[in-house]
Amino acid sequence: MPDQQCQRTRRRPTQSNTPWAVPLKRALLGLAWTGLTLATTTAAASEFADAAPERLSEFIQVNTENPPGNETRGVEFFATRLDQAGIPYQTAESAPGRGNLWARLKGGSEPALVLLNHMDVVPADPRYWSFDPYSGEIRDGHVYGRGALDMKSLGIAQFQAFLALHASGKRLNRDVIFVATADEEAGGAFGAGWLATNHPEIFKGAGYLLNEGGGGTTIGDDTVFTVEVTQKVPLWLRLVAHGNPGHGSTPQVETAVTRALRAGNRLAETRFPPRVIPAVQDMFEGMAPYQDDAMRTRYADIVNAVQDPEFMTYLQLTNPAQHALLRNTCSLTGMTGSNKINVVPTEAIIELDCRLLPDQDPDRFTEELNVIVNDPNITIEKIMGFTPAVSSADTPLYRLIETVYESYFPGAVVVPGVATGFTDSHFFRDLGIVSYGFGPFVVPAADRRGVHGNDERISEENMVRGTELMIELLNRFTSR
Ligand SMILES: [Zn+2]
Repeated sequence: MPDQQCQRTRRRPTQSNTPWAVPLKRALLGLAWTGLTLATTTAAASEFADAAPERLSEFIQVNTENPPGNETRGVEFFATRLDQAGIPYQTAESAPGRGNLWARLKGGSEPALVLLNHMDVVPADPRYWSFDPYSGEIRDGHVYGRGALDMKSLGIAQFQAFLALHASGKRLNRDVIFVATADEEAGGAFGAGWLATNHPEIFKGAGYLLNEGGGGTTIGDDTVFTVEVTQKVPLWLRLVAHGNPGHGSTPQVETAVTRALRAGNRLAETRFPPRVIPAVQDMFEGMAPYQDDAMRTRYADIVNAVQDPEFMTYLQLTNPAQHALLRNTCSLTGMTGSNKINVVPTEAIIELDCRLLPDQDPDRFTEELNVIVNDPNITIEKIMGFTPAVSSADTPLYRLIETVYESYFPGAVVVPGVATGFTDSHFFRDLGIVSYGFGPFVVPAADRRGVHGNDERISEENMVRGTELMIELLNRFTSR
């Protein structure tokens, strides 16, 4: 159900925003964690955090470029280290080379927590990189290589926290399940989606899941974290226009191609009505303080702002990703007609990448498209579509995430986020598991370009601190 809470953000502007405030304090005092809220992470646990950059470097060197994936190499990477730690695990291949791995720490009867990460990475073209994408080199305070941000870094932070929790030997209030999957970058059919269907026992008793999709950034002097609670829902469609075939030398009044063009034009000119769902409203309200004077009041009152077409056009021009959160959208991405220049085809095809607000019924939306196209000679076929779902931000885990972020980054702002793209989380929201995109890193805007781009890297500082934060979160969420 959509989150109805509107006041999810908190600020504590009087406090220092030094990212290393807490770890420095720990170092200076030579003590275990101190401060208002930190009391549980031990010196032994911090060894797991200190080892995180090196471990990430090793994982980056395991080439899991998708396609073809070869995630079984990643399974071997985790399996070796789980063996060393004495933690049992299971593995399954959805297809040759497409490995998946899971391991469960047993605890009490509270709803279990899943740590989900995908092992595959998108291809890297070395011609455009200034270093070897699979070297995993560590220099100048950074770990370099494909997956450094998306998402081997988070996978390692989860893994180290999982190992630290096991090593602590403490009794847990709930099970914790580490799941490393194949194929996220191609939609998850050989990874998370396959596991959800073929190995539902992995997720038995699970009430919560942490995955990619959230994280921190700095705006001016402030650190802002988003916790992704929902995402636009993809609905990929194929419009097939039908008509009489013929010779290019003899034009007809109407053909499959002219029909497809007319339908495409109608869709291209359609602006679906703006609508603000509660999670998006929370997000815009949270971001309002960081906008310039003209935009601040608009963001703070986004429900009214979207009624102004000039504002919507301005937003689409200046921030198309945020604009896309305020309405259903369809991008025309593919067109196919005849493969011979002098042949009029019987079919012409337009492909549409539609992204729906998470409360939109996909079938109703397809009916709307039929009305817009208004042509009995055009059929609309579904290529792919997910079901819409929102995870509530009103849960003990969300509140703990806020607390732990604020412990590490005093004064940080935490906002529920809505993603325009999709991750594997939708598979688990469908199962009724509260799923958050949660990242413990604060990534500079310049480095974000490395995600699916070139010269991907993450700072060692982020890896160590982010892993500490993950250990702290896990430790506290599993305490009796
Ligand atoms: Zn990813």
